[in-house]
Amino acid sequence: MIVVMKVGSPEQEIARISEELNAWGLTPEKIVGKHKVVLGLVGETVDLDPLQLQEISPWIEQVLRVEQPFKRVSREYRHGEGSDIIVNTPNGPVHFGEQHPLSVVAGPCSVENEEMIIETARRVKAAGAQFLRGGAYKPRTSPYAFQGHGESALELLAAAREATGLGIVTEVMDTAELEVVAKFADIVQVGARNMQNFSLLKKVGAQDKPVLLKRGMAATIEDWLMAAEYILAAGNPNVILCERGIRTFDRQYARNTLDLSVIPVLRTLTHLPIMIDPSHGTGKAEYVPSMALAAIAAGTDSLMIEVHPNPKKALSDGPQSLTPDRFDSLMQELSVIGKAVKRWPQAAALV
Ligand code: PEP
Ligand code: MN
Repeated sequence: MIVVMKVGSPEQEIARISEELNAWGLTPEKIVGKHKVVLGLVGETVDLDPLQLQEISPWIEQVLRVEQPFKRVSREYRHGEGSDIIVNTPNGPVHFGEQHPLSVVAGPCSVENEEMIIETARRVKAAGAQFLRGGAYKPRTSPYAFQGHGESALELLAAAREATGLGIVTEVMDTAELEVVAKFADIVQVGARNMQNFSLLKKVGAQDKPVLLKRGMAATIEDWLMAAEYILAAGNPNVILCERGIRTFDRQYARNTLDLSVIPVLRTLTHLPIMIDPSHGTGKAEYVPSMALAAIAAGTDSLMIEVHPNPKKALSDGPQSLTPDRFDSLMQELSVIGKAVKRWPQAAALV
């Protein structure tokens, strides 16, 4: 249930209402939007009468029930306003949100060695990315495949951050590694295979680094939003939803089916920012540019693109990785659509 306050409601009155709701056994969560303040009430609200709540104060504009099973992530919970997730990087704050320019995360699937991660970081930065991605702990289908270099790879990401000022996005696979991953990452990634690892979701929700939550490969949109709800319910409001392709009947030509329809669908259902990953979404470098262009045209807030200095030699996901040169030219192609939809960063960000 949400209590929408009138524009200009006095702080004291909002505090008084919160106290009264507390006395009713509820735990109101104050959400300050651009125009209005909303008090979110999650929990045992079925027996509450919205009209009775309305009578607490003349400053209450409206009391609404959130009908969906997801509450805190629902668009209504912020009274229709999209979230603006601000991530501080050495190069300055980067915003993820529908009111802001597109942000780009790029880099290799896995951190392989110092030279390749620093080189990739410099190249993606020069092309205009704001974040470097790279896996230290890798979820691999085969136990015999490269599993990532672990903590030493996190140190290499820190060196790349230092060298370029890019923010770092890297995956946490297990609750046991969360502390160390969160120490090095500016954004903690929860991968597709862990989307419904509820212990992990609760733990990433209880720490304060923003979380990039990838869609599970067979997850419905509701499963995905409920997974995000776990993170918000545990106290972390900063979640970015990343579509990375789902499993469908056809795996002959593309690794997954990239569901770009999630962009308008999520926009109506949630306030959380949207990211599209055409690399895992298609599995083939040659298909990545067209899907990235389409994602911008459809209104994504951010992109994740795998880039490797030598894709043929990559230890993971080489076939879907762009070379730095191809990424550079792709960024120029993307800028045409980005400018057309008024979501392209200013020239300064591209230096
Ligand atoms: C990755 O980002 O390298 C990755 C493993 O992604 P996903 O969880 O989407 O497969
Ligand atoms: Mn990968």
